[in-house]
Amino acid sequence: MMKIDINKSVLELVEGDITRQDTDAIVNAANTSLLGGGGVDGAIHSAGGPKILEECRKLGGCPTGEARITTGGNLKARYVIHTVGPVYHDGKQHEAELLANAYKNSLILASHHKLRSVAFPSLSTGAYGYPMNEAAIIALKTVVDYVKIHPEIHLVRFVLFGSKAYQTYEKALQELIK
Ligand code: ADP
Repeated sequence: MMKIDINKSVLELVEGDITRQDTDAIVNAANTSLLGGGGVDGAIHSAGGPKILEECRKLGGCPTGEARITTGGNLKARYVIHTVGPVYHDGKQHEAELLANAYKNSLILASHHKLRSVAFPSLSTGAYGYPMNEAAIIALKTVVDYVKIHPEIHLVRFVLFGSKAYQTYEKALQELIK
C-alpha cells in the first residue's frame, strides 16, 4: 500500500477488490447502457444486489466520460458512482481526454453529494483495453489535480486488482510526485 498527502487530502493505492471498500462511494467501470456487464461492473452488481440495477434502469444510460450516482445497495459503500471510460482503439480517438473526464466527473459528483471518500478501480484497463501504464498516469494526474483544489474530498483510494496492476500504479505515482 502507498499513501501520500496532497494538500489536505490523502491519496492511497491498495491492491484489492473494489466491492469490499468502506469509502462513502465506490466507482464502477460501467458501460454506456448502465445495465451491467463483466469485470468490475459484474462484481459490483453481484455484491451490491438488485437495488443498484433498479436505479440504473431509471437513468437511461451514461455517455462516455460522464458519471451517474446510485445507492450502494448491500455494499459497505453508501453510493456507487457509475462512470464510463473509453474503449481504447489507437490512442488517437480522444481516449486520454475521455479517460480523464471519467475520473474528473466522478469526483465532481462526489463533491456535489458531499462525499468525503471515494474508491476507484483502474477504469478502461480491462475489457476496454487501455494500456495500464498510460491509463495510470492519466488517472493519477487527474485525481491529484482535482484534490489539490477540492479539499472536501478527504480520501481517494485506487483499488488495484492484482500485484501487476498495483505495481504499475505505484511506479506511475512515484514518477508523478518526484
Ligand atoms: P473496463 O471495461 O472499463 O475496461 P473492467 O471491469 O473490464 O472495465 O476492468 C477494469 C479494471 O478493473 C481491470 O484492470 C480489471 O483487472 C480490474 N478489476 C476487475 N475486477 C475488479 C475488482 N473486483 N476490484 C477492482 N478491480 C477489478
